[in-house]
Amino acid sequence: MAPRSLLDKVWDTHTVRELPSGQTQLFIGLHLIHEVTSPQGFQMLDDAGLRVLVPERTFATVDHIVPTDGRARPLRDAQAEEMLQAIEANTARHEIPFFRIGSGDQGIVHVIGPELGLTQPGLTIACGDSHTSTHGAFGAIAFGIGTSQVRDVLASQCLALARPKVRRIRVGGTLGFGVYAKDVILHIIRRLGVKGGVGYAYEYAGPAVERMSMEERMTLCNMSIEGGARVGYANPDETTFDYLRGRRFAPQGDSFERAVAWWRSMASDRDARFDDEVELAGAEVAPTVTWGTNPGQAIAVREKLPRLDELPEDDRAAAEDAYRFMELVPGRPIEGTPIQVAFIGSCTNGRLSDLREAARVARKGKVAPGVRALVVPGSEQVRRAAEAEGLDEVFKQAGFQWREAGCSMCLAMNPDKLVGRELCASSSNRNFKGRQGSPTGRTLLMSPAMVAAAALRGRVADVRELL
Ligand code: SF4
Repeated sequence: MAPRSLLDKVWDTHTVRELPSGQTQLFIGLHLIHEVTSPQGFQMLDDAGLRVLVPERTFATVDHIVPTDGRARPLRDAQAEEMLQAIEANTARHEIPFFRIGSGDQGIVHVIGPELGLTQPGLTIACGDSHTSTHGAFGAIAFGIGTSQVRDVLASQCLALARPKVRRIRVGGTLGFGVYAKDVILHIIRRLGVKGGVGYAYEYAGPAVERMSMEERMTLCNMSIEGGARVGYANPDETTFDYLRGRRFAPQGDSFERAVAWWRSMASDRDARFDDEVELAGAEVAPTVTWGTNPGQAIAVREKLPRLDELPEDDRAAAEDAYRFMELVPGRPIEGTPIQVAFIGSCTNGRLSDLREAARVARKGKVAPGVRALVVPGSEQVRRAAEAEGLDEVFKQAGFQWREAGCSMCLAMNPDKLVGRELCASSSNRNFKGRQGSPTGRTLLMSPAMVAAAALRGRVADVRELL
């Protein structure tokens, strides 16, 4: 057989049949659901008089709407309480496992899937959420779906999809001091554009990716969608298998060793051909910060904001609009820009290793006066593990608020919101206008360590100075 990429192997394995439309009827190995996009799916299922076909392949959590400063029921926000009750009722009625608040396993859907061992190499994974690409870190083909597709998966465990092309992005060499996976993905999106990945799956490869931990690979894959690629993945290797060994839903004992052999076989063949290839050197990536209103509008922290005539002509109108909204001036440095809020969390950077790196910085001082700084663990498991290491105390002593697990200010569907024109240094993944709860609020995306540095200095700072 001709050499194949991981995408081709996973796709072929899950193909039920080719459809007359040219799409594939694809079996979905794992369906993850949350409270925001599942109610409509269940409603459509009920309207059609159908049941969930394979409930044991569906798992539910609650993440977007949960308050992070207390969890008393009913939730203060009546609409949030209604959404919580809907997912409780739907999962109970259809016998779907639900990781409820206080269960010890609740958290952001893209954090709990991996930590429970549900996310495994060689699977197709769907979730009504754009950042489902996160799970590709394990060598799964994982993608976000719309609400009618949530219905389709509930009803049939299948989707009709077009096979994407594959672009391999090789990151060579090593990453510099103070440079994280977040900087790598912001750098990639800056270089290839926010639409550069449309129609592609991104395969991340090369020595710098192979050296990354699973949590770093998740950060990398998570933001593929911000570069237009619905799918992003890394090939499974020893790091992947070590991460999965012993996790609750991973195969156990002899089954695990058999699974490893199969997982290994799903990696892209050495001489696989790709539709496109991009090379970049790890050493060229610096701590990176966004300055605009999409994640591709980013620069290294020591660079000056690009002048309009330095940008490709097609990008100038959007840049001009972004500068107006952000109240930033072309040609000036981004370093030193005052912030009012610092947010550490989200499915991009709310895992234990993210909190450890941010805590390393937090140990160096106190949150600057006038800055509201929040640390929101990605899951109850992350929160417990961080507390066992004393990270909560490090943050609290430095003046950060230590919160309960959830999406929080990434999307601000809960009470954690920017107010007015506040400028937020954020470890999340989207800097769109109004993303963090205030229509006029502003977001600068960066690594969690950079957010901690900004919190301490009260302005955008180069984390390398603090480490
Ligand atoms: S953390 Fe943000 S991007 Fe991730 S699932 Fe929650 S709202 Fe979506």
